[in-house]
Amino acid sequence: MKVMIIQPIHESGIKMLEQAGFEVVQASDPDPEVVAQEIVDVDGVIVRTSPFNAQIIQNAQRLKVIARHGVGLDNVDLEEASKRGIWVVNTPNANALSVAEATLMFILALAKKVKQMDSATRNNHFEVRDLFSTMDVHGKTLGIIGFGRIGRLVARKCEAAFSMRILAYDPYIDPSQKQQVGVKFVTLDELLAESDFVTIHAPLTSQTRNLIDEPQLKSMKPSAFIINMARGPIWNEQAVLKALEEGWIAGAATDVFSEEPPAPDHPFFKCDKILLTPHNSALTKECVVRMAQGAAQGVIEVLTGEYPTWPVNTELLKKYGKL
Ligand code: NAD
Repeated sequence: MKVMIIQPIHESGIKMLEQAGFEVVQASDPDPEVVAQEIVDVDGVIVRTSPFNAQIIQNAQRLKVIARHGVGLDNVDLEEASKRGIWVVNTPNANALSVAEATLMFILALAKKVKQMDSATRNNHFEVRDLFSTMDVHGKTLGIIGFGRIGRLVARKCEAAFSMRILAYDPYIDPSQKQQVGVKFVTLDELLAESDFVTIHAPLTSQTRNLIDEPQLKSMKPSAFIINMARGPIWNEQAVLKALEEGWIAGAATDVFSEEPPAPDHPFFKCDKILLTPHNSALTKECVVRMAQGAAQGVIEVLTGEYPTWPVNTELLKKYGKL
């Protein structure tokens, strides 16, 4: 059986597939039109962030499993896969830790103005130490949008490391999670109005697209910071830029963009109140191994007739009578 890798993954995942007896091929380009041509005789596929749309799935006559290397599923057409009885699996335990660590990095970097201080120091402006005050994170309020695996880990770490007060907004949270000691569940409006740091960890869905727009940014404290670790379209990038330029908020940070890679003249690039990383918070050297091996495990499980450990479309497969 043949397994296709759409974008490069760590070699340990490929070795697992080969040792399980599969032929492993690399797509010649992640462009959906190219993948749609090359997918025809493939039994399993490992997808990263490139689109895996209905056209590709319709062309994939033999496909039995789509493994998402990572968590977010907004690039995979779950309905089309499920209609055709194709399992979709992901690697939910692989990257939460790394994304949570990167969130703490942004919280500290914003509070301590690392970017500005580094630049001033190396440009012989040592006097900057008296010109701009930085702040302690200790005891501040952290608002978490999306209290899933990553959101919960961020809460635990920020509580333990900085004694932060934790607010969370998550309309779909399992009631048992609400008992989590030290976390107050609030409305989005309350969270935005009260938080010193807001961090986004919700999936991109029709409900979360543009969840953070001008009115939401205006309702934040002028001293507050907002961080997007989830998906670019969850906030309106133009509105974030306006909020930074007009001082509605103090600063921002993002790992994700509405289009990736962002255009060379993306307006964020000229704004020094926002810290940017290239969607690499889950690409630590440890995490890429966990994601590659987790995705390979999902493919192997389905292609050898086992029930997958990390299924994501069980309900949809049932809905279409495929399970
Ligand atoms: P998860 O499924 O464990 O948690 C997501 C949480 O968001 C759930 O508790 C869910 O109830 C909640 N949610 C859903 N709709 C919501 C809404 N409208 N408002 C508020 N909360 C809502 O997922 P996770 O592993 O914690 O990952 C969260 C997201 O982070 C992923 O969907 C992905 O897009 C993103 N992510 C980004 C990176 C990165 O490299 N930057 C890596 C991993 C995940």
